[in-house]
Amino acid sequence: MDPFAGDPDDPAQELAAFDAGTPAPAPLPVDEHAGVLGDLEDLMLFQTLLAPRGLRGLAVLCADCDAVHYFAWDLLRGNMVHLLGGGQIRVHEPAYDPDPTDYVSWDYARGYADATFESLKSRGAEEPG
Ligand SMILES: [Zn+2]
Repeated sequence: MDPFAGDPDDPAQELAAFDAGTPAPAPLPVDEHAGVLGDLEDLMLFQTLLAPRGLRGLAVLCADCDAVHYFAWDLLRGNMVHLLGGGQIRVHEPAYDPDPTDYVSWDYARGYADATFESLKSRGAEEPG
């Protein structure tokens, strides 16, 4: 039984469209799929905000080797798109000889984005219209 039979919001329809033609190796569970999509949106927001400030990507603590790896924006985005297609994140292809000052943590980027929106919101509140 398909619990979503007849439901126009059937999440499987999205996957079916995504996989049209080529069978995916192992599609992500729908909730994980949504989580990665959310991360991808965040990442593109961070890049939009931080790349013009000279930052080249994110520093990520690797659970495998307990070291910080530096990922350029495009590499991170490619990893996430790869993950959405059922692949594994290629964590051990970090940027070559990175300058740590060019990279920030995900949490820093998140805080920066939140602060940016807060200041936009308060500015909008002071000057309505
Ligand atoms: Zn690693």
